[in-house]
Amino acid sequence: MSEPKTVQGTGSLRGEDEVVDLCRDLIRIDTSNYGDHSGPGERRAAEYVAEKLAEVGLEPEIFESHPGRASTVVRIEGEDRSRPGLLIHGHTDVVPANAADWTHDPFSGEVADGCVWGRGAVDMKDMDAMTLAVVRERMRTGRKPPRDLVLAFLADEEAGGTWGARHLVDNHPGLFEGVTEAIGEVGGFSFTVNEKLRLYLVETAQKGMHWMKLTVDGTAGHGSMIHRDNAITELSEAVGRLGRHEFPIRVTKTLRHFLDELSDALGTELDPESMDETLAKLGGIAKLIGASLKNTANPTQLGAGYKVNVIPGQATAHVDGRFLPGYEEEFLADLDRILGPRVRREDVHADKALETTFDGALVDAMQTALSAEDPIARAVPYMLSAGTDAKSFDDLGIRCFGFSPLQLPPELDFAGMFHGVDERVPVDGLKFGVRVLDRFLDAS
Ligand SMILES: [Zn+2]
Repeated sequence: MSEPKTVQGTGSLRGEDEVVDLCRDLIRIDTSNYGDHSGPGERRAAEYVAEKLAEVGLEPEIFESHPGRASTVVRIEGEDRSRPGLLIHGHTDVVPANAADWTHDPFSGEVADGCVWGRGAVDMKDMDAMTLAVVRERMRTGRKPPRDLVLAFLADEEAGGTWGARHLVDNHPGLFEGVTEAIGEVGGFSFTVNEKLRLYLVETAQKGMHWMKLTVDGTAGHGSMIHRDNAITELSEAVGRLGRHEFPIRVTKTLRHFLDELSDALGTELDPESMDETLAKLGGIAKLIGASLKNTANPTQLGAGYKVNVIPGQATAHVDGRFLPGYEEEFLADLDRILGPRVRREDVHADKALETTFDGALVDAMQTALSAEDPIARAVPYMLSAGTDAKSFDDLGIRCFGFSPLQLPPELDFAGMFHGVDERVPVDGLKFGVRVLDRFLDAS
């Protein structure tokens, strides 16, 4: 915990001026997460972040959950310490990258064509760098946030957060004492509708997940015989039914609100009953919105047999299931009906769905900050089809939003860059994000 104070001689360096360097430095620290402890870990990134925070007079702490797996947390005292705190969380790990597929080396942090390139440029070393830049500028100039601010730079988000957010929430909940709201990934980025309207998608909801293993037990036997109880036949029919199943569209609070805002902004009624038409109008974000309309269950792995003339006694499959907030029961009932009584279904990993309302002072602060930097900005809520560290912080009763503000050129396929090849973030977008975050903190 630290008092902001002016650090002599550096007060003129603005967050906008150093955000690109911070982002490049972070990208150059390889934090690839392979889902186990075989990667380089986040320790170096945690130390880098801690050093940048300590330079401006803060006292960050590093928490190592496993050798090499580390997160950095710091609390900054606000003007009014009686108010509940705000958390800004970002993860420092990245998914691996195969350099041969990339235009620029994914761990070089190169600047080309107006963008910073590299693994993590949008997911999410951009936001880590923006957060550092804003806080460092505020500390250098002695501008306290209006209320307590907790920053968490977390390990292991890309593998479920066990060694990062989950570890801190379970073992060090005191770090987040008094915190009631949070911002983090995945949201706050822009989608330009026309010259009069730019949407900024704020994440207010996340789907839940059931990663499942399906098993059918049959009777083993010789491949030359008449055989009525073949596990492969039974399982593959069930998997086929599931893979082809069209789950119904469900209008969640978040979808309703998104469509209302968009209908209002466009001056035309967008009907959830004709979502194909609506999605056609959404260009680059259609993929994002499309996945938030219904439950999904995609078969992803199959396993059975070891020899061509042996009928195996068992066959297995894995399914990536995602459900909408409020529709978990319906989802599981649908699964059992579609799969039938022969299939045994068990979770290999499950997590809850999240949904909060798009209202209140913090949402107002987002819109105020965006409007000040972009006169045609309009913040709208949306649901993420995947999960983030917000699921862990929700356990502490913290209301989480995906708000990592970025203004993007209309032609950039932003959604496609998450975990994709040639991940890059526009330099102007980063600077815009710093200005918006700074204003957001003032308004929060
Ligand atoms: Zn991420």
